[in-house]
Amino acid sequence: MEREKFECPNCGNEMTVDLKEFVDVTENPEYKTQIMNGQFFLVKCPKCGDETLAEYPVMYMDPSKKLTVYMVPDHDPALLSQLNNLDIPDNEIDEEAVFRVVSSADQLLEKILIADGGRDDRLIELYKAVIIQNIREEWPEVQHEDLLYFLGQGEEYFIAWGIENAKGEQMTINLEDKFYNILKDEYLEALSIPAGKYAEVNEAWLQERVELEG
Ligand SMILES: [Zn+2]
Repeated sequence: MEREKFECPNCGNEMTVDLKEFVDVTENPEYKTQIMNGQFFLVKCPKCGDETLAEYPVMYMDPSKKLTVYMVPDHDPALLSQLNNLDIPDNEIDEEAVFRVVSSADQLLEKILIADGGRDDRLIELYKAVIIQNIREEWPEVQHEDLLYFLGQGEEYFIAWGIENAKGEQMTINLEDKFYNILKDEYLEALSIPAGKYAEVNEAWLQERVELEG
């Protein structure tokens, strides 16, 4: 475990923080709980009690779901090629394993929820792009990056945090299984990622692969 000095933005107290840079949530499920309830990246000052969000690079691993997400805030564009240049012997490559790079705790949480929901994040990004086209007239201000997949109490939906209509209602759109499966049948092949390689699956990634009718 790495230790790093951190200055409290409230009182200036200097404290030492233990960084959990490699997290295996099959072994330590409490870390997954902390990421999901927002506690994981909170640093509490022992002097004044102030809590600060401190996002640092974390390799999130869930072997039970074959999911690895490397979260690196403000990362170098070369990060992906650095990760993918590592040679893995062919016989150790698991075709089903998913390797992703994200740049924030929100994105990490979304990838975790997508895996929990049994969905494929490539199709979820495609689904978002279709939603954006369909709601353009009613919700012109909603951008692709505002939409997040959410899973709660067995319900799956897309939500645009902080965006409300005139009645003060939060924009939420239910995920329809039938439509998801149509996308899967028609597009999954075009969205393939080489086995064992990391990808940063987001709006930009999608636009390089699929052209949607405007
Ligand atoms: Zn403090």
